[in-house]
Amino acid sequence: MKTIEHWIAGKSSPGSSGRTAPVFNPATGGQQAEVVLADAVDVSAAVAAAAEAFETWSQTSVSRRTSVLFAFRELVNAHASELAELITDEHGKVLSDALGEVQRGLEVVEFACGIPSLLKGDYSDQVSTGVDTYSFREPLGVVAGITPFNFPAMVPMWMFPVAIACGNTFILKPSERDPSASVLIAELWQRAGLPDGVFNVVHGDKVAVDAILDSPEVAAVSFVGSTPIAKYIHERASATGKRVQALGGAKNHAIVLPDADIDFAADHLAAAAFGSAGERCMAISAAVAVGSAADAVVAAVNDRARAVKVGSGREPGVEMGPVVTRAAQERIQGLIGTGAAQGADITVDGRGYTVPGHEDGFFVGPTVIDNVTTDMDVYREEIFGPVLSVVRCDDVDEAIAMINANPYGNGTAIFTSSGEAARRFQRGVHVGMIGINVPVPVPMAYYSFGGWKDSLFGDKHIHGPEGVSFYTRAKVITARWPRRELASDASFHFPTSK
Ligand code: NAD
Repeated sequence: MKTIEHWIAGKSSPGSSGRTAPVFNPATGGQQAEVVLADAVDVSAAVAAAAEAFETWSQTSVSRRTSVLFAFRELVNAHASELAELITDEHGKVLSDALGEVQRGLEVVEFACGIPSLLKGDYSDQVSTGVDTYSFREPLGVVAGITPFNFPAMVPMWMFPVAIACGNTFILKPSERDPSASVLIAELWQRAGLPDGVFNVVHGDKVAVDAILDSPEVAAVSFVGSTPIAKYIHERASATGKRVQALGGAKNHAIVLPDADIDFAADHLAAAAFGSAGERCMAISAAVAVGSAADAVVAAVNDRARAVKVGSGREPGVEMGPVVTRAAQERIQGLIGTGAAQGADITVDGRGYTVPGHEDGFFVGPTVIDNVTTDMDVYREEIFGPVLSVVRCDDVDEAIAMINANPYGNGTAIFTSSGEAARRFQRGVHVGMIGINVPVPVPMAYYSFGGWKDSLFGDKHIHGPEGVSFYTRAKVITARWPRRELASDASFHFPTSK
């Protein structure tokens, strides 16, 4: 059985805890590896390596740091297929989707290659007679990223390219369910010329996370995962004085207005609900069908749900793989059951779905639930599976009010041909990322990604300009070089401009 180890100070390390967790292949249901789980001793070894590396990396010129990033970009590109295969085998998503997440992660690396421009400060000449003011930003020190299972390459890449480009050193605690991609990424960083200790990987569960949160030498924590853990991370890390951005879960609504192209909307709703088996924080899980659109939307989405090709992510032509674990499969199927029990109509039922040749895989078929109301569990819970709930309502204002009453505020979308309705929607919803005829509006790397309300704790979104701001802090200098022959103008009143 393969053992997946930590990566500390530029080499593999088995750690000292003696604890491990199984890593499954969700398509077969079989265990394929074990991953070591860090204890506080392992975490402090990684923190010590990162703290030592920070002494030199933070002083390395911005152009040398950039050249490492460019080399890393080439290596990730060259190994994209290998990374995607690791992701598919441990996560379950189809290969093309896994390649897509590597590509979206690479876009952040490319953004971070522009760090010389991004770190430029300001300069104001002659703010007072003979006095100039200027500012620049410095790295924070050792920073950590704690990431979820659903994007084992992309979500870590939302964080570390920017953090490292800014001059920080990084500890990644990836999901213990699909840990292999991060180890390959660590090897690629080393081959790109990154000094040992700048990028470290510590595998683990709550024990490792708590050790990171409590470490006085960790200056900042970026977290992406479920809302209860995001809230916990934010509170505990803030209590030890760290800077924290903690992105949580989601319940993303897509409104379909009667003036929308229903076929176009249904194609995109199905892709956004069932792609990656619904295990995306930007998946559409609630379709809000407005007025006369409702029957046509449900009929069209049912057709698409029944046509989805489900199977092993390694098989060509497959559109949707299994969910990540047996526990996730059972939870999702249980929630679908509550929909029926609470009075909704299951129009396409994915429970008990089997894929020939993969009978033990963690599959759930695409599911559509109609006539869902906002008090039902299928609406209130983040199901994180291939389940689309359809809520019917009378007009766009009622739909906007429903979205705003929901505790999450990650992403949302509208399908319409009315610019007026789209504008009312974009201005009215309390949500961080909004799509207009775009169901999964994940911003490009040079914008920042993040939700509102229970989808984000902290005030900085991830990557883009807010990422640079999160991983640096500013100094403002006020300077004067007085001429010796002039009299001193020191005075006891508070300094004002002259
Ligand atoms: P999770 O919250 O269970 O785990 C995330 C990370 O936290 C993992 O590294 C895990 O090891 C660690 N963790 C788990 N339990 C912990 C505990 N009790 N104490 C400390 N650390 C703990 O999330 P997941 O199941 O891996 O991922 C799915 C969730 O992530 C969904 O809710 C999804 O919406 C969310 N997500 C959000 C975004 C976003 O951008 N907002 C992006 C991707 C995923």
